[in-house]
Formats: sequence, structure tokens, C-alpha cells
Amino acid sequence: MSERLSPDLCVIGAGAGGLTAAAGAAMLGVPVVMIEKDRMGGECLNAGCVPSSALVAAAHRAQRARMAADFGIAATPIVDFEKVRAHVRSVIAAIAPHDSRERFEGLGVRVINAAARFVDPATVVAGDVEVRARRFIVATGSSPDIPPFPGLGQTPFLTNDTIFAVETLPARLVVIGAGSVGLVLAQAFSRLGSQVSVIDAGRPLAKDDPECVNIVLSALAAEGIALFDGAAVTGIRGDAAGVEVSIMREGVARTVGGSHLLIATGRRPNVTGLGLDRAGIAFDAAGIKVDAGLRTTNRRVYAIGDVNGGMLFSNVAHDQAGLVLRNALFRMPVNAARRVVPWVTRTEPELAHVGRTEARARAEGFRVRVLRAAFADNDLARAERASEGRIKIVTTSRGKILGATIVGPGAGELIGVWSLAISRGLRIGALAAALMPYPSLAEIGRKAAVGYFVPGLTGPLARRVIGFLRRFG
Ligand SMILES: Cc1cc2nc3c(=O)[nH]c(=O)nc-3n(C[C@H](O)[C@H](O)[C@H](O)COP(=O)(O)OP(=O)(O)OC[C@H]3O[C@@H](n4cnc5c(N)ncnc54)[C@H](O)[C@@H]3O)c2cc1C
Repeated sequence: MSERLSPDLCVIGAGAGGLTAAAGAAMLGVPVVMIEKDRMGGECLNAGCVPSSALVAAAHRAQRARMAADFGIAATPIVDFEKVRAHVRSVIAAIAPHDSRERFEGLGVRVINAAARFVDPATVVAGDVEVRARRFIVATGSSPDIPPFPGLGQTPFLTNDTIFAVETLPARLVVIGAGSVGLVLAQAFSRLGSQVSVIDAGRPLAKDDPECVNIVLSALAAEGIALFDGAAVTGIRGDAAGVEVSIMREGVARTVGGSHLLIATGRRPNVTGLGLDRAGIAFDAAGIKVDAGLRTTNRRVYAIGDVNGGMLFSNVAHDQAGLVLRNALFRMPVNAARRVVPWVTRTEPELAHVGRTEARARAEGFRVRVLRAAFADNDLARAERASEGRIKIVTTSRGKILGATIVGPGAGELIGVWSLAISRGLRIGALAAALMPYPSLAEIGRKAAVGYFVPGLTGPLARRVIGFLRRFG
């Protein structure tokens, strides 16, 4: 070894979780070593949230132009895919300095660019550097999970790691996987001009409320995206000229063809090559096993973000980094399982969720009230001609808020207030009492909340009270 380091904290992986942990610790004056084997910024910056959000932004612009005639404005979108790619690259480049080696070295973090592996429970080797740290944080993320479909090994295919680098717009894109990543990219490419088919073995967006998911699926179908759900892939063949995916759906065999194939069937945790066995860190196919405080079976080592197989979101990775610092540096007890996690699928209409779905609340034995309000009844949504969708709130019979799903314009922003409400244990009355600006999309949440009180206010008891009070003049 050319160098031996003994920092307080060694972070493995410079993605969403690792960067937050390293920056936080360094700002508190803790000596930190961060090891990254590839590009700083990890999945989110280079092949995940950032490029997909940038692509979605371009695609939505094209759609706005198509819809402009409804507002009395003529416009026809001309998609220059090379310029779309340049836009995506420039968004990544604009954010990259925040995640860069230079910024972290400026914060006092020693950054090592090499693959890290444990050689014993207290030592990691990266390149020719040996690191013996007081605490380690494993934040190595996840990679595309590629199912063993017959023929896939001989067929060229894309994943999120490669799709943002395709040089020409796919003429006909076949997407396998109708989760959040698959559907968002399907709609984005469709709006940019690709003809898109999506295949899924089960139910699309299976973690979300089906009633709200159906609104998204109807919108995608209306835009011309062909969806084959509940379809088993029985074979794949193709070459650079095109692909054919054979499926079996409801007992009927058929073939879905395209120029490009995108596999978006899920993620697998990056545990290979880390020497976890040597460090006494238990793991399985779902990820590194952690307790409520995100500690692994080696008490010196924590695992955060996608690699622990929890909820695979950047906001979760960021949050877990903060929880681990609290626990590791200040010895404060933390419980990652209690965190309230909102998420958004950036299709149009957007789909956002926090807390329990109606089905989960009922399965857990709650006596629920379900409150709904439609964007069609919101004046601003009407003015914007974006009136598809609704908010659906699930409360206990006594009004404690259990969950919220919003499908419609701005859902990812509107869910924030419900995340706050659920994490603070608020009752629906608090949301009903809070005025929202007019006109605003935020009014839809208040409208749903007020709905909780409507049966009581319009029932016979209310009428009797009003009648009684009338006697006093
Ligand atoms: C297409 C797509 C879109 C997404 N959109 C969203 C979204 O809109 N919102 C959202 O919240 N989430 C989104 N996600 C999920 C999000 O990207 C991940 O949840 C998040 O990046 C996880 O952060 P992480 O720190 O756990 O891992 P990562 O960000 O993946 O970072 C892990 C890092 O560890 C490095 N590494 C791995 N092994 C080693 C090793 N042995 N030694 C050193 N370094 C190593 C990797 O190179 C990588 O840089 C999206 C994901 C995809 C694929």
C-alpha cells in the first residue's frame, strides 16, 4: 500500500447518499475519506433523476406546442434530438460542480477515485490506499436488474445507463417494465416523436393507488403509447436493425417490434466485489441488511440508500445520510422505518403519493374515510386546460390523515403539504382550516379536506342547531 489513512469516517460511493453524508460530516469538522469508483454524483446525476427530468422537460415542451392550438396559439414542434441531448448534457453539467471532487476537496474531504472493498471488518482498500476508519458508510447504490429473458443475451438493449446517450431518436421504442422509470421514459420518448410500446409482467406502477394509476394509463394510451400489462415475455430476438419481443398475454401469443429495446424492470443492489463477507456484513439479493438505525451486522458500518434495498429514491438516500450522521456522530437514536417518504412519477399527469394507500390502510385494519376532489373542479386547472386527475385522501374515521395520492398537474409539488401533515400527525381539520391562494392548484387539497366535514354540516343535526339558534333572533 502506498498510503494508509485513518479518518473518523469513510464513505463508499459518491452518489445521493454518500455525497450528503460526506458533506455533512466534513462541515462538522469530521475527517472524511470518500471513495468513488466511477463518476461523482452517482446514478441520480449521471443516469437517473437529473437526465430523466431534463428529458421530460424537453418532451413536455413539445407537447405544450402540440396543445397550444387549444389556447388559440398555433405552434408545431420540431424536435431536434441532437439539441435535446445537448440540453440534457448541459443540465447535468450545470449540477455537476455541486457533486464534484473539487467541491468536496474544498470541504476538506479526501476523495479517492477507485473501487473500494473490505479486507477485514475495519479496513477498506481502494487502489493502493488502505483506509482504517472509526465508522464506514456504504452507499454504493444499485444497478439495472436484467432478467434472464430468453434471447436477451444475444440482443442489443438499452438501460437507464445508456439510453440518455443514444445519438438518434429511437423510431420505435419497446420498453419492458412499466414502473416509474419505464413509464416516464416511455412518455418522454413518445412526446419527442418515438412510437412507443410498453410491456409489463404485472400491474403498471404497482406501488401506487390503482384508481389514480388508471388516470395516468388512460393519458398515456390517449397519446398513442401501447401498453401490454400482465404480459409474460417469452422470447426476444434482434440486432442493430431492430428487435422483436414475443409475449404471452391472457393466453394469446403476439410479437411487439421496435427499433430499440429499453429494459426498465427494476434494480439490484451494488454489493458485488465489496468484500462484505470479509467484513462480517450480512446481505442478500435485496441488499445489505440494516437495523432501524441503518447499522449493518458490523457495528462499525452503516448502509444507506439503494444498497440497503429500502425505498429506491434519492430523497431517501439523502435522508438516511442525515440519520446516520446523527447516530454516528451525536449518538442520537434514529429510526429510518418511521420516516414518511413522498414520491412522484413525472409522467403527465404527474402521480405523487405519501403515506398509506387506501388498500394498505384497510389491510392494516383502519376504519377509513376516503376524500376526493377533482382537478376538473379547480378553476386554475381549467384555465390551464390541465383538468385531468384528482386528489385522494385517506383518513381514519376520526380524521387522522393516513395517506394522500395526487394525480394531475403539479402533483409532485402539491404532495409536500400532505407529507408535512402526515409526518406531524395532523388531522384533516388542520388542512381544511388553512386558506390557499386563489386561483391555485393547492386549493384542490383544501377542497378534499373540507369534504370530510360536509356530511356533518349538511345533516339533520346541523339543521336542528340552526333552527334552534334562529329562535334567538
Ligand atoms: C432513470 C432513473 C430515474 C430516477 N428518478 C428519480 C427521481 O425522480 N426521484 C428520486 O427520488 N429518485 C429517482 N431515481 C432513483 C435515484 O437515482 C436513486 O435512488 C439514488 O441515486 C440512490 O442513491 P445512492 O446514493 O444510494 O446510490 P447512487 O446514486 O447510485 O450512488 C452510488 C455510487 O457508488 C459508487 N460505487 C458502487 N460500488 C462502489 C465501490 N465498490 N467502490 C466505490 N464506489 C462504488 C457508484 O459508482 C455510484 O457513484 C431514479 C433512478 C433512475 C434509474
